[in-house]
Amino acid sequence: MTDTTTERDLRVVVLGAGMAGILAGINLMKQGYRNIAIYEKADRVGGTWRENTYPGLTCDVPSHHYTYSFERNPDWTRHLPPGAEIQQYFERTAAKYAVNEIIQFKQEATAAKFKDGRWYLDFDSGHSDIADVLIAATGVLHKPSYPKIEGADSFTGDIFHSARWDHSVALEGKRIGIIGNGSTGVQIVSALAGKVAKLKHFQRTAQWIMPVENGYFSEQERAAFQDPAALEEAMQTELYKASVEQYTQAITDQESEGAKQLAEACLNNLEQSVKDPELRERLRPDHTPLCKRLIFSPDYYQAIQHPNSELLTDGIERIEPQGIRTRDGQLHELDVIVFATGFHADCFMRPMTITGRNGADLEDFWQDHPKAYLAISMPDFPNLFMLNGPCGPIGNFSLIDIAEHQWHYIEQLLARLRSGDCREIAPSHEVMNSYESKRVAAAKETVWFKGGCVSWYLDKNGIPASWPWNFSHFVELMSEPDWQAFGLEAPAQNRAQVAAELT
Ligand code: NAP
Repeated sequence: MTDTTTERDLRVVVLGAGMAGILAGINLMKQGYRNIAIYEKADRVGGTWRENTYPGLTCDVPSHHYTYSFERNPDWTRHLPPGAEIQQYFERTAAKYAVNEIIQFKQEATAAKFKDGRWYLDFDSGHSDIADVLIAATGVLHKPSYPKIEGADSFTGDIFHSARWDHSVALEGKRIGIIGNGSTGVQIVSALAGKVAKLKHFQRTAQWIMPVENGYFSEQERAAFQDPAALEEAMQTELYKASVEQYTQAITDQESEGAKQLAEACLNNLEQSVKDPELRERLRPDHTPLCKRLIFSPDYYQAIQHPNSELLTDGIERIEPQGIRTRDGQLHELDVIVFATGFHADCFMRPMTITGRNGADLEDFWQDHPKAYLAISMPDFPNLFMLNGPCGPIGNFSLIDIAEHQWHYIEQLLARLRSGDCREIAPSHEVMNSYESKRVAAAKETVWFKGGCVSWYLDKNGIPASWPWNFSHFVELMSEPDWQAFGLEAPAQNRAQVAAELT
């Protein structure tokens, strides 16, 4: 039993009230931490699901697997969760677990400095705080990437990024141009096809598209899901876990059965869904499936074949006052242009400045690319832990599940600080370097590196900045910290348990 009388009253500060920040807040409260705060730059929780509101916004993870493990949602209306329902789910969950009470909204952290064993924080409002532990739950894809296309300022219609959707612009009867065909662009085209006067989709690189069902749950099904046991059964968790494992195996081993099955499904989808052979060839990617993040879509091929839709593959020459001119010299007159051109994937906590032990600057540490030991912690930045940090697992699976595994790991580190076992936790440079060189070597074996494409998974040196091993390996590593990596002995109760098992 833990002796709570000698526990340190740690001040724990969480940055960000998106999916991961809410998770951290709930778990900290469950574990009896009282001196906690979550700072959020916006005026509501939700992170990416608050910021993205484009038509067709959907998560490609099966609905019932896109929830916290302790707060299932029987009320999803569809097999894949619509963005608005996800946002409601997070708002509801934050309220239910009283996380809202510890969130300070409209506070964007601008600087964090480690001094005398504590983190000194500054916010854009002028507010400041001092924390023993800093949890960065600032998200991955939050800084929109605007393409450098000549003439964008000259366009006389409406023009905006998919993550900054302008809902004051009516779309009905308009000619809309969508630039980009990642998950976002594909979902927008699917949602708007047939509902606007003309839809022009500007594709630079063809994408593999995985067919997926996205029907509505019937009233009876939703009523049945109110029973947690029935919901648990319907979730087929083992099947879901096996599919995630198969997916990560396919990334690390292109000869695996899973890789072949996924490739075949994508190829069949293209061959069977697109009737016009000329259009089919323009939609045919020249890279290995999974090299870019796979697009899951039930209806994109149907949407692009709608009489009012058009796929443009000649490349964009420039934007003009009336529309987009492609390299073949044609001007495509438009009323609205949407940049579905993705995000700067290397920001994480930045642009805030982070100064660690002995003046260590995060910008220097991340000069080459953002990195962290097991995606969670960094040398010289003690007691700073990240959820969904750099080079963690990313793919067509639930990031909530990833964050829960990471939290399980982080809470064990926090317990050591809380018990007074140690004052600072960070891996050594040797541990970090050895880990990172193994990660980079493994990353060069993945389909992201070998598959013949460019994607946001790659860092500026062209190395995949992602978890390059199987999902099961991630789960195993998250089960308990390798205490030696942090210069610590295993906690006393773990040592006693090991000794008991050996006798
Ligand atoms: P993205 O995957 O990075 O795609 C950006 C698109 O914009 C690509 O098609 C890219 O073409 C194109 N592009 C960029 N600059 C361009 C330029 N100058 N000219 C022409 N085309 C240009 O971005 P995203 O679609 O927003 O998706 C980002 C990530 O968000 C996803 O991978 C996923 O992790 C997440 N997401 C998830 C879901 C979901 O269902 N769970 C939904 C939406 C987003 P190239 O391919 O040629 O570079």
